[in-house]
Amino acid sequence: MSDMPRRPYRVAIVGGGIVGLFTAYRLLRAGAGPVVVLERGFLSSGASGRNGGGVRQQWDSRVTVRMMREAVQEWRHFGREFGTNVWFRQGGYLFLATTPAEVTRLRQVTEAVRAEGLDGRLLEPSGALRYAPSLSLDGIAGATFLNTDGTLYPFPGVWGVYEAVRALGGEVRLGVEVTGVRTEAGRVVGLSTSEGPVDAAAVVNAAGGWSGDVSRLAGLAVPNVASRHEILATEPLKPFLDPMVIRLADGLYFSQTMRGEVVGGLAVPHPTGTRAGVPTSPAFLRSMSRSLVRLIPALAPVGVLRAWSGYYDDTPDGFPVIGEDPRLPGFFHANGFSGHGFMLSPASSKRVAQSVLGEKTDLDPALFSPGRFLDPHRRGEAEGLQPG
Ligand SMILES: Cc1cc2nc3c(=O)[nH]c(=O)nc-3n(C[C@H](O)[C@H](O)[C@H](O)COP(=O)(O)OP(=O)(O)OC[C@H]3O[C@@H](n4cnc5c(N)ncnc54)[C@H](O)[C@@H]3O)c2cc1C
Repeated sequence: MSDMPRRPYRVAIVGGGIVGLFTAYRLLRAGAGPVVVLERGFLSSGASGRNGGGVRQQWDSRVTVRMMREAVQEWRHFGREFGTNVWFRQGGYLFLATTPAEVTRLRQVTEAVRAEGLDGRLLEPSGALRYAPSLSLDGIAGATFLNTDGTLYPFPGVWGVYEAVRALGGEVRLGVEVTGVRTEAGRVVGLSTSEGPVDAAAVVNAAGGWSGDVSRLAGLAVPNVASRHEILATEPLKPFLDPMVIRLADGLYFSQTMRGEVVGGLAVPHPTGTRAGVPTSPAFLRSMSRSLVRLIPALAPVGVLRAWSGYYDDTPDGFPVIGEDPRLPGFFHANGFSGHGFMLSPASSKRVAQSVLGEKTDLDPALFSPGRFLDPHRRGEAEGLQPG
């Protein structure tokens, strides 16, 4: 018999990744109980347990820089608030350009970063060696560096927020699949699940790469697309690399963890959608190894320990989707986070919670609202700095 109570929840959240959990935490902190998080797998089974742990404030658009600046402050103090250590290390992010057009792009990024009060630096190729001495400068035309960007371990982030949600009286139900969105008189009244119905005044779709499926359960067409990305970890090496390094040309990204492994990825094309599951491919291992060794020849003899894959939840303009769906009162989106939902979660969850509580957020609806894709006169702005 199921132990899933039907009771009327104030909010039911679909997806127990970092976004769903952080949203639950914000809601509970605001006194908005009862809140339940429904996760069909295990904690961190989605992208939140499969990512590269990168945290950066270098972006195309100032609004993303601003939100990420806020998120960085939150990650810095995460241990104090949640009592777990995410090992947030601010070793910087080094972006590499290989063409004049990419240098121009990085110049614009640095302008956006500096306009938000951060110390982004545009560098000559040789300047990159100051931060990553082992790089080959062959083909490098320029670089940017921001010293307060960094990396963290995602798992303790998920666990810390999970424990905090439960300590605040929130329920997190693992192994419970949401199978339907229940409506009455045109508004959300709850969910159908593998463990029976749940009543809730509001539902938050935080299902990551599966958010399109969950929206469709509610009868809503959305443009979110799941794309699979592969990533690997090498055997551990002596510390030799402080920053996360990203090469724009092929989307190569990698950093060295505090355990010494080089962890990184690079985009290889896959059919969209989640049907493939989470395999890895020889094509990825080949492209990744070639690309990495071209940039750091000394890594040639190093072995790969493991590789895995996970899903980005992409939107057409690269901005996430946050807020109530204009077509279905009570149905809220917290999705479309592409390859940066983990780093952004301390800041994005505040806005999700505010919108669920009917409070005003500082988000520009033209960039973040679910309704923007229904607007034929939508502004063409995009957040495109999403390599990897
Ligand atoms: C290879 C890779 C590298 C990345 N690198 C970075 C990085 O360096 N920095 C960064 O910030 N981000 C990175 N990301 C992106 C980041 O991991 C995601 O944006 C973030 O984890 C999204 O969190 P989420 O909670 O929205 O989704 P998820 O963690 O995917 O959680 C969604 C959950 O919903 C559950 N679910 C789905 N459907 C249902 C249903 N019907 N019923 C119940 N549960 C359901 C799933 O099981 C899943 O656990 C990377 C992603 C990948 C794949």
